[in-house]
Amino acid sequence: MSGLDTASGTTTVKNLIGGQWQDSAATRFGDIFNPSTGQVIARSPLSSADETKQAVQAAADAFPAWRDTPVVERARVMFRFRDLMAQNFEELAALITREHGKTLPESRAEVQRGVEMAEFASGIPNMIKGETMANIARNVDAETIRHPVGVCAGITPYNFPFMVPLWMFPIALTCGNTFILKPSEKVPLSSIRMGELLVEAGIPDGVFNIVHGDKESVDVLLTHPDVAAISFVGSTKIAKYIYEVGTQHNKRVQSAGGAKNHLIIMPDADVDLSVKALAASAYGCAGQRCMAGSVAVAVGSIADPLVDQLNDYASKLKTGPTDGCDPDMGPLINPDAVNRVESYLDIAKNEGATVRLDGRKNVSGEGFLVGPSIIDHVKPDMRVAKEEIFGPVLSVIRADDLDAALEVGNNCAYGNGASIFTNSGYAAREFKQHFNAGMIGINVGVPAPMAWFPFTGWNASFFGDLHIQGNEGVHFYTRQKTTLTRWFAPDESCHHDPVWKTGLGKKD
Ligand code: NAD
Repeated sequence: MSGLDTASGTTTVKNLIGGQWQDSAATRFGDIFNPSTGQVIARSPLSSADETKQAVQAAADAFPAWRDTPVVERARVMFRFRDLMAQNFEELAALITREHGKTLPESRAEVQRGVEMAEFASGIPNMIKGETMANIARNVDAETIRHPVGVCAGITPYNFPFMVPLWMFPIALTCGNTFILKPSEKVPLSSIRMGELLVEAGIPDGVFNIVHGDKESVDVLLTHPDVAAISFVGSTKIAKYIYEVGTQHNKRVQSAGGAKNHLIIMPDADVDLSVKALAASAYGCAGQRCMAGSVAVAVGSIADPLVDQLNDYASKLKTGPTDGCDPDMGPLINPDAVNRVESYLDIAKNEGATVRLDGRKNVSGEGFLVGPSIIDHVKPDMRVAKEEIFGPVLSVIRADDLDAALEVGNNCAYGNGASIFTNSGYAAREFKQHFNAGMIGINVGVPAPMAWFPFTGWNASFFGDLHIQGNEGVHFYTRQKTTLTRWFAPDESCHHDPVWKTGLGKKD
């Protein structure tokens, strides 16, 4: 990979600035683990403010020519990029598994979702067509067209190293913007590979840049006068900070944060199907998904059989290293994540809940492994009900009826996703109408929208106005210009002011 420096014996990722892969001059570095083995496989430079400014300069320099490149030519670059990703599908999936630790089938699903973002972006010429109205006033025509906003930056989390950057830059670039990606310092290898493929697809120098770093780089992007828009995905604390600082510096910001997603199981739900969906939602990607179901709200009589069967099912899931192996569930990202998840099992016990399945037990193998856990008899005010654990832990709250279940969810600070399992159309509709979250599933465990729909988190799960993906993504990366046009007939004299004739601009 040309985005890697292996000369010194330690593999270090490079920045991509102005079309050149550059060794960072950083003096600080972050470790990149293979979570399956616990070994450090490379390191990420934590680039300085000056290096980040160089990337902004490169993106600003490249903007006018890219902006003026016809949108169909920009879309063709995206189309070629899409094909290159499809051709390298298995390599990309293996790379995600290596640096993130999710299972290979989970990585393949991630690549597929990412490829779809490029497919969506290839259709942008059809979406940024403007609006016109002839004769909006006498002899006056109105036209609104979409312009790119300028230099855009994306700051991404570790849990989808490939897909989340692709939520952003294919739309931004095809709309005519230039872009700086600041990937998670924990998982930059997927971004490097995407950068290489984008260069191979023909993206001009400086249009797409990658800077590795942490707060120091991010703060440059948030405050630099030449950056017009910031897209962020990560934890709520940082999402709020990004939104506040970015908007204070006159940028448009879309900032997606953390989550605590509820899965309501009604008494009429099919227990077998619900158990499988719950386990897939809570334990897929080892629970490291912003759409993971982390609180099951069991309504009425279904609670005991549901928890018993879930316990049987989850106890049999095999947790292990994923690099070259094929377990049901892979490791967490790093030792800190293991400590955090394990500490919540102790917190739950101390708060009076029952740890029905303890993921610390029955796990063997190398790496950052914690098995699936179930915490039963959780009360809504306990920390495990309120805080994002971001690991394979499912808390179970028991509710008497649908209203009580809705109340549990609606008192939660987050509002990313929520699902109901039921055979009642009435219950499903009540839930859809009244649950206080932006992405709703009905008998769907992970109701994550695909490229063509916005990712519509609410409350503390999103800060901003226009969401990521779909039409809203295109609107976020473009600004509108409205033109009113009037042409005078050749015989209209300059003494005759037609403004009066149309009434437009008439003075009192
Ligand atoms: P994180 O907030 O720790 O990091 C995200 C990004 O912010 C990284 O690029 C990181 O370098 C940067 N960052 C970290 N601290 C910073 C600081 N003080 N100032 C400026 N930048 C900083 O998140 P993470 O642990 O990488 O990812 C997991 C989180 O992301 C979870 O909370 C998860 O729910 C959330 N997430 C949300 C969505 C969504 O769509 N809502 C999707 C995926 C992940």
